[in-house]
Formats: sequence, structure tokens, C-alpha cells
Amino acid sequence: MNDQQLRGIGMTSQRTRDRLINRLRDQGIKDERVLEVMRNTPRHIFIDEALSHRAYEDTALPIGYNQTISQPFIVARMTEMLLAEGELQRVLEVGTGSGYQTSILAPLVGELFSVERIKPLQDKARQRLKTLELKNVQLKHTDGGMGWAGKAPYDGILAACAPEEVPEELKQQLAVGGRLIIPVGGSENQELKLVIRLSEDEFSTEVLEGVKFVPLLSGTVR
Ligand code: SAH
Repeated sequence: MNDQQLRGIGMTSQRTRDRLINRLRDQGIKDERVLEVMRNTPRHIFIDEALSHRAYEDTALPIGYNQTISQPFIVARMTEMLLAEGELQRVLEVGTGSGYQTSILAPLVGELFSVERIKPLQDKARQRLKTLELKNVQLKHTDGGMGWAGKAPYDGILAACAPEEVPEELKQQLAVGGRLIIPVGGSENQELKLVIRLSEDEFSTEVLEGVKFVPLLSGTVR
């Protein structure tokens, strides 16, 4: 990828990106750190060239393998909620996908661990993270419904795919005080939930809003 492709022109230019940021602000995103990182992140490099002219629309787009790059508004919202009570040192992301949400989170946290079950998506995401020189991210090809126990505990966990119920494994990998943001439910009726680990064995759960994510599936794809 050359410099011009990375910076973008026309429908992928900085001006187009700035318009998206203004829109996110109008829709209620308040955390300026999040908006600034999104302003500086070229979303068009996370999707196929044929769709790149739509990169700065506030919508999810296909990335192959029946998966989608998350909608910018929801990326902003989840990141803002995750960071709402202060800086996070260790964070787990479930569902790397294109790596877009990963690239927004990475500059805002200490260390980011991200798991993906579809290997070819992970390979592409790895390449993009390298292009953007994000060095505090570790990727793993695994079924993230089980989390990544070897790197736990986490101050924050963000899931970009929806299980039917909050997986017990993810709750157990939270540090005390840690925050888990996760869409929960079937294909028709999902809620975004915020689970906080209050003590070793107490958790609070808050429903944030209705959402639509791809399902969390078990097993891995090579
Ligand atoms: N935030 C990503 C969203 C990708 S869609 C982006 O902006 O690109 C959700 C991703 O979760 C998909 O790539 C899907 O393969 C992955 N996924 C689904 N179930 C999973 C699981 N059990 N473990 C890890 N990843 C999973």
C-alpha cells in the first residue's frame, strides 16, 4: 500500500472522514479521545477496494466469510463505554474481524489482546495493524467464547459478536472492577450489555441499548 492509498482521496479522503466524525458527535459520542482516534484511522483500508467508497458511511459493511466490519457509531459507543471509568491497562477483544475496532482501541489502552475464529480474516487484520504500526496488540486464532485465559485478568473485554448468554469464561477473566461490553441475544433481538465485576463473585449487569451483531460461533475456521 502506498502513501496515497493510506491517506485516501475523494470518497476516502480526510474531509470525508471528518464528516463522519461530526456525525458521530451529533449522534451523542462525547469522548474526544475516541473521536480523535477515529478521525485519524483510515477505515477504508479495512474493507475491499470495491467497497472503499462507502468506508465513511456510518454503516456495517461485508468483509467476507459472512462477517461485517462494525458500524462506526457502535465502535465509538462501545469504546466510549469501555473507557468510561478511566484508563484500562489490559483489554481483550473478541472478534478481531477486519481489525478496525482493534485499531481504534489500541491507541487508547495499555495492551490489547484480540481473538478471532476465522484465520484468513485474522491474517488480513494482522497486515493492517502492521501498516498502521500498532505495536501493543497481540492476536490469537481461537474460539473467543472461551476468552484468552493465558493473558487474563483483563480490565476490559469488548465482544463484537453476540452469544445467546454472557459466557461465564469471559466474566471469570475480568479483573475485579473490570468491564465487559457485549451484545447478547439471537439474530432478531440483541441487547448491548455492560457487565462489571464488583468483587471476586459479584457482577452487575446493565442493558445499554438494542443492537445487531453477527453471532458468536464456536470452533475455529482455518
Ligand atoms: N469489530 C470487528 C467486527 C467483526 S464481526 C470489525 O470491525 O471488523 C465479528 C467477528 O467476530 C467476526 O470476524 C467473527 O468471525 C468473529 N467471531 C465470531 N465468533 C467468534 C468466536 N467464538 N471467537 C472469536 N471470534 C469470533
